[in-house]
Amino acid sequence: MKQVYFYDEGDGKNKKLLGGKGAGLCEMTRLKLPVPPGFTITTEVCKKYYENNKKLPKTLMSEIKKNIAKIEKKTGKKWNSKTNPLLVSVRSGAAVSMPGMMDTILNLGLNDDTVNGLAEKSQNPRFAWDSYRRFIQLFGKVVFGVDDTEFDKVLNGAKAKQNVTEDSALNINSLKEIVSQYKKICEKQTGKKFPTDPTQQVELAVKAVFGSWMGERAIVYRERNNITKSIADGTAVNVVSMVFGNIGEDSATGVVFTRNPGDGTKVIYGEYLINAQGEDVVAGVRTGKLVSELKKDMPASYKQLAATCEKLEKHYKEPQDIEFTIEQGTFYLLQTRNAKMNAVGMVKTSVDMVKEKLIDKNKAITRLQAEQLEQLLHRTMDPKEIKNYKSLVKGIAASPGAASGIAVFDVKRATEMGENGVKVILIREETKPEDVPAFFESAGILTSRGGKTSHAAVVARGMGKPCIVGCSNLKIDSEDKQCSVDGTVVHEGDSITIDGSSGIVYIGDIPTIEPKITSDFKQILEWSQKAKLIGVRANADTPDGAKIAREFGGQGIGLCRTERMFNGADRIGLFVDMIMAENIEERSKVLKKLGELQKSDFIEILKAMEGYEVTIRLLDPPLHEFLPNPVELAEKIHKLELKNATSEVNEAKIVLKRAKELAEVNPMMGHRGVRVGVTHPEIYEMQIRAVFEALVVLTKKKVKAHPQIMIPQISSIEELNHIKKIYDSIKNEVETKHKMKLKINFGTMIEVVRAALTANELATTAEFFSFGTNDLTQGTFSFSREDVEGKFLPEYMEKELLERNPFQSIDENGVGSLIKMGIASGRKVRKNMEIGICGEHGGDPSSIKFCHAEGLSYVSASPHRIPIAVVAAAQAAIEQPKKGKSKRK
Ligand code: ADP
Ligand code: MG
Ligand code: MG
Repeated sequence: MKQVYFYDEGDGKNKKLLGGKGAGLCEMTRLKLPVPPGFTITTEVCKKYYENNKKLPKTLMSEIKKNIAKIEKKTGKKWNSKTNPLLVSVRSGAAVSMPGMMDTILNLGLNDDTVNGLAEKSQNPRFAWDSYRRFIQLFGKVVFGVDDTEFDKVLNGAKAKQNVTEDSALNINSLKEIVSQYKKICEKQTGKKFPTDPTQQVELAVKAVFGSWMGERAIVYRERNNITKSIADGTAVNVVSMVFGNIGEDSATGVVFTRNPGDGTKVIYGEYLINAQGEDVVAGVRTGKLVSELKKDMPASYKQLAATCEKLEKHYKEPQDIEFTIEQGTFYLLQTRNAKMNAVGMVKTSVDMVKEKLIDKNKAITRLQAEQLEQLLHRTMDPKEIKNYKSLVKGIAASPGAASGIAVFDVKRATEMGENGVKVILIREETKPEDVPAFFESAGILTSRGGKTSHAAVVARGMGKPCIVGCSNLKIDSEDKQCSVDGTVVHEGDSITIDGSSGIVYIGDIPTIEPKITSDFKQILEWSQKAKLIGVRANADTPDGAKIAREFGGQGIGLCRTERMFNGADRIGLFVDMIMAENIEERSKVLKKLGELQKSDFIEILKAMEGYEVTIRLLDPPLHEFLPNPVELAEKIHKLELKNATSEVNEAKIVLKRAKELAEVNPMMGHRGVRVGVTHPEIYEMQIRAVFEALVVLTKKKVKAHPQIMIPQISSIEELNHIKKIYDSIKNEVETKHKMKLKINFGTMIEVVRAALTANELATTAEFFSFGTNDLTQGTFSFSREDVEGKFLPEYMEKELLERNPFQSIDENGVGSLIKMGIASGRKVRKNMEIGICGEHGGDPSSIKFCHAEGLSYVSASPHRIPIAVVAAAQAAIEQPKKGKSKRK
């Protein structure tokens, strides 16, 4: 096994072996771009390290030494030299980038001798000693686990003593003193002398990088981002010869994106710092200058940067995120990776790169993360409302979107409150990688320091969380849990709103509005509509829902839940009357009224979806769901009795009696769905009649309506045939009455396990199937969704007993098998049978890909998820060309 690859040896495509950073450096070396010489220790070695009980393979250090000799040759510098020392950085890098998750050590190779060599060679002792103190701090932190604050105390003390505020103003004597103090801190921590031998330093650093792979921060990040072993298993280590951005005014370091990651426009976007070393920009210690100014500061280097951006984009066919350093006028590249962008940026660059002929339409679709598009469908502040609120301060707009919540200044508190469902805006001076868990739980992030490429900005953008950084007028006092601007104070718990698109912070909880779909997004949706084969329908129960669904590209309704129509304020009373009716006459009177209401709803919905199929599901929930909760009702009765409201008490008591009669121990598996239809045929009769009557009205008006009737909770062909008889007799009745033929498909849900097992029988009567994967998942696992999601499911995922929440993404092995079985046996009986899915999985990208592969006709998703479903369906068609070529319904 080859353990180490010099940058001119490695396969730049093999990110799994070399890590993303290593592969990028190999590829750039191959492209003849100015990468400082270096090498990668593979991720395989990291795995070996853990298999060997945290010991490096025996031959590794000799391999490393050979490669360091190679660097010596290329750079002309010497390892551990007193005259011209070679220094390196030791950097982590897994297969997928985990920004800021693991630490890098810079300037390794320094000791009390080599520092003098560096001083002499550079003719700049201040630079040499500055590099030395940075090295000890990073080494102490990463290898020995020393807390940053220990070092900061020394640094701040030295600044105070010298009476300066900037790190860069520290003189040599101060720096020497700092180095000596730093070493003492490390020695106190380890009880040993600070290591002076550069080779020993490398060995310790490599071990520390491997160690950081299983560090808490890294584990949490992988968990949260679903980075499984198959995606990234271990980190590589990069040893790179140092180039110095901190050698003087002709040196600099920077981070840029080849396009603006916030909106996708084609401009080089980012920041740099003159006379600084890498970490300074990323950590936001000093706020950088905008890269456009580099044009004036260092025109030759800017030109090289611009040419490099072009070249890398052409090569990778993706916008890049680049790290560079300029050492005394010479330009070097230290990293490139595909830029993480928000959804606006991704969509715009997809469309632009097609126009620029960098990529084709298929690539434009597949490079998107369907799930990320959700950001485009997020709400923004209502412009009409903004004027009613006071803006507090303006910072740098780092990640777009509006978020409101209560101000919290403490990372731990923000995490806890967020976990408890409180909307929180995390406010900090700056953030560090260890703060990332709080990002997940916060609605938005606000910092007073740092620029657009600071830690907070990068992480928030990756997550699609609204974020404002560099709000320098905001004085934050974390101790006292408050912040202020010119005397206006915000305390912990006060509501604020941040607009990550404008950078403005407001006081109060500003109402938000629906987003508009941009022309770029429309373009992507248009291409996706053409590329996809599977149908995308909506789960919509109201005419408004149907309209939104259609605007978003929905082609029909896969699930119209009729019970939702009874929940309206003008209906619930009627429905309760129906349940309470004492005899059949009374009941039919109420049903007649309900029938009229349903009929008019159906007319509106069918009109909104003219030309497309609308699947109407008959009543599904148990009747007691419509009655008041018995416990609350009993309390109400008690209160009424105290007030001597006799007639009201009597009335309530009757309802209570009925509610108690109907109550069930396990309603999800109780008297619901078709079972209600069997025992109360008059309800299903009313609903079926309403659908037929609606069709009559629309047919007369020449509206192309295509309703279908679907029966929930079917478990046997006997049940289905029983309802089919009712359907047939009503069809007959309405057709005779209006003297017209009416076609309404009659089908069933497949959501009970037995239905999937006997789908061949059901298909003899059912003209279509629709998989109700919510109930099917409950039944397959015997998991009651309401109970498990709040109780043990998270722990199951943590302990890796389940890879994903089966209520979010279809459990392909279990529930998926039932679906496959249902499709095969259904279509054996009825060739080309329309089979869809209407569970919430219908809006989940990975489930959609499964549905495409298994030959489903369509998926049905909630109206707001339709654009996501359309893109995911197109991706499935492009990625699985063997699974058919023709359009399905
Ligand atoms: P991260 O993965 O957190 O970005 P990096 O390994 O890329 O960590 O390094 C952190 C910073 O140090 C970056 O700004 C990078 O450009 C800089 N850096 C790393 N190696 C060198 C080097 N050999 N010379 C100069 N700067 C370096
Ligand atoms: Mg980096
Ligand atoms: Mg169901």
